[in-house]
Amino acid sequence: MVNSKKIGILALQGDVSEHINATKKAANNLGLECEIIEVRTREQITGLDAIIIPGGESTVLQKLCERAGIFEDIKKIKNIFGTCAGTIMLAKNIHNKEPEQKTLELMEIEVDRNAYGRQADSFEKNIETVLGSMHGVFIRAPKIRSIKENVRVLAKNENEIIACEQKNNGNYYLVTTFHPELTTTQFHEHFLQNL
Ligand code: GLN
Repeated sequence: MVNSKKIGILALQGDVSEHINATKKAANNLGLECEIIEVRTREQITGLDAIIIPGGESTVLQKLCERAGIFEDIKKIKNIFGTCAGTIMLAKNIHNKEPEQKTLELMEIEVDRNAYGRQADSFEKNIETVLGSMHGVFIRAPKIRSIKENVRVLAKNENEIIACEQKNNGNYYLVTTFHPELTTTQFHEHFLQNL
């Protein structure tokens, strides 16, 4: 298909099917042709235009990526959208990390893991973003503590940055600390529009 984009959803852990559905709907809404594939192996990474890293648990995601031998391959993908644990995976720096924990170190953001507290401190609320208002679901979410000047803020909750993006050298990275795949397609549309 001409101009068809190949989008991978990292399918090792987390809310994979929700991301697949949200991406399909987003592509439909935009009238874009997209091939959406679940990614678990190096072969499946070949030829991807973009990948989405779902929420889950960043330490587990890291280990599963290493075990599958795809940690370094993911780094080379030009367009990456990370939600919640995916945000942690993309960050250059993280606080409150596990001893062996490492990240892809692609985005100029500093992230605090589990900064809202324990699982019981997860919450939902309406949020305002540059893409419009939406319902935000925060599940043991991280906080974005600081960003460099090349990162653009897309949403805040009170004073906290909860969504942002970075474009440089042909790479595009988008992150949300909440789970847009559960409530909206706005962020998936935004991601597809930037490919
Ligand atoms: N607390 C998780 C972590 O450290 C993230 C939670 C989530 O993705 N919903 O990776």
